[in-house]
Amino acid sequence: MTDVGRPADDLDALRSWQRPLRAQFPIITAHPELAYLDSAATAQKPQAVLDAVHSYLTTSNANAGRGTYPWANATTALVERTRDRVKEFLHDPAPDRSTVHFTGGTTEGLRTVARDWLTTFLTDGDEIVVPFADHQANLAPWLEAQQLLAQRGVHIRVRRLPCQAGSGDYDPVAFAALLGPRTRLVAATHVHHVYGGDMNVHRLREAAGPHVPICLDAAQSIGHLPVSMAELDVDFVVFSGHKALALPGTGAVWSRGLRGPAFRPGGWQGTPNTVGIAALAAALDWLEAAGPDRIERWTVALAARLTDGLRQLARYQVLGCRASLSAASAVQRRRSIVTFRHRDIASHDLGFILYSHGFMVRSDHHCQAGADAGAKDGSVRVSLHVHNTPEEVDALLSTLTSLQ
Ligand code: PLP
Repeated sequence: MTDVGRPADDLDALRSWQRPLRAQFPIITAHPELAYLDSAATAQKPQAVLDAVHSYLTTSNANAGRGTYPWANATTALVERTRDRVKEFLHDPAPDRSTVHFTGGTTEGLRTVARDWLTTFLTDGDEIVVPFADHQANLAPWLEAQQLLAQRGVHIRVRRLPCQAGSGDYDPVAFAALLGPRTRLVAATHVHHVYGGDMNVHRLREAAGPHVPICLDAAQSIGHLPVSMAELDVDFVVFSGHKALALPGTGAVWSRGLRGPAFRPGGWQGTPNTVGIAALAAALDWLEAAGPDRIERWTVALAARLTDGLRQLARYQVLGCRASLSAASAVQRRRSIVTFRHRDIASHDLGFILYSHGFMVRSDHHCQAGADAGAKDGSVRVSLHVHNTPEEVDALLSTLTSLQ
């Protein structure tokens, strides 16, 4: 959990920092009548990322790892440099020991860890612990691995990572009781994509002890808050480029290689997504320059303003962590995601109504495994990024108030 200042103060303190950053998102500035509130689905791109794509394609586009001429060598260097960039961005304390493998995104990354790492060393009776109420992407690959192993005659047990009712937080006490000598992996999520809470993965590490590998789905944290491998003692970090201001079709698996066998993604890899990798490097540079700590403070403050406002409105129910929702709270568990339901208006309808007022939100079950996400008709998710403003939040609240 990150301690931040009082979010209400942060909006004033960070105003002059945020304004020029917003101006760097062409799609945002081109549409002042619209508010993009769906960054958890995919993030908008700053000009620097668009420039990096153009520059790469117009100066050195070639294949990587195969060249005898300058463009090809430049592309190979770009790919290697971006691997190092990912390690730096994660504050990797031992970059010589870790690896970065580029993927098409978080789903593909988690599937690669499940298929090319986990299934290579499990034996009959081994156990893994996985989150059944997180994103499908962090459940399906582990169940597929179980099936794959069963086809080979190896039967493993998949245990449900326990959550606390209401908040959706992991329950470290119930978790500790699940662990045993055959536990080979714990799969967890850094920030929940529906409830918006920081899942306090360090508490899973404390409960699991030093020997069990943890694989972290960081799809909703990279680009939103500082993520430090010096602090989080996990073994894999998997994320999507497109949610971190880069392009769709890119992502990475960072792997530490301390616990279990080395991660060696299987087979012939083919041509990497070099344009996506160029964009990812530019996005990480941009985020670093903007300051992940300030992006976190800004978006936490906006989310707190929205949850505070929603709590005044009797017809809305906010999902997820109830504690520390307030802008006056000094410890924020909620990050940049606020998900809610209207008591009478179906969430899907509310999504359409909100767009008619210029607000782009997500309204469905959010690909949540087990499809809790606000029960039968889903929920409305507002997810914020650095370009969003208190004015957008206030305008949304005033529209939601008019629908009371
Ligand atoms: N994990 C989480 C927490 C997510 O929010 C998402 C996407 O919304 C994913 C995984 C899947 O990411 P992708 O679709 O980029 O593979």
